[in-house]
Amino acid sequence: MKQCVNIVANTTAFKKIGAKMFTIKVPGCDKYEIYSDNYLRCLAREYPFNIYHPSGTCKMGDVDDETTVVDPELKVKGIKNLRVVDGSVMPTITSGNTNAPIIMIAEKASEMIKIDNPDSKKCFEGDNIRIKMNRWKKK
Ligand SMILES: Cc1cc2nc3c(=O)[nH]c(=O)nc-3n(C[C@H](O)[C@H](O)[C@H](O)COP(=O)(O)OP(=O)(O)OC[C@H]3O[C@@H](n4cnc5c(N)ncnc54)[C@H](O)[C@@H]3O)c2cc1C
Repeated sequence: MKQCVNIVANTTAFKKIGAKMFTIKVPGCDKYEIYSDNYLRCLAREYPFNIYHPSGTCKMGDVDDETTVVDPELKVKGIKNLRVVDGSVMPTITSGNTNAPIIMIAEKASEMIKIDNPDSKKCFEGDNIRIKMNRWKKK
């Protein structure tokens, strides 16, 4: 937080664009000098919120790491045929919004599932899917 304040308040790049820090103190922390250590400490205590981006409750990573739940292929450690594919596998939260990275996780997972199941993959490719659809239409 101190670094952010320093970047916005004191760097040439931010000065060039006329950036200014808010001058209004947030309620609850107004007894402290604005941007002092105590003020920032108060902000950290009183104002944390997740902006609807909860993640990382089911961490992906090295199987030998006791803090991980799924391996790098998103398979739940110690359980067969179960993957977790959502924001919970993020080992650390992304610095930006979560939707796009989670779509990327899902795309990657679908590729890994297809690779692990080459026979099912055929069902959804080219002629196979057309044949299946025609069969369904005839019924
Ligand atoms: C109000 C709000 C605004 C947001 N704005 C943005 C934004 O602007 N940009 C951005 O990038 N991200 C935004 N996000 C975050 C983003 O939407 C989420 O991080 C992302 O959708 C999470 O994806 P997920 O697959 O992990 O979980 P979810 O999208 O929550 O998917 C979980 C799915 O599991 C289903 N489910 C739950 N329990 C069961 C069950 N027992 N059986 C079967 N299905 C079940 C649910 O119905 C749901 O479809 C926002 C989130 C919220 C809530």
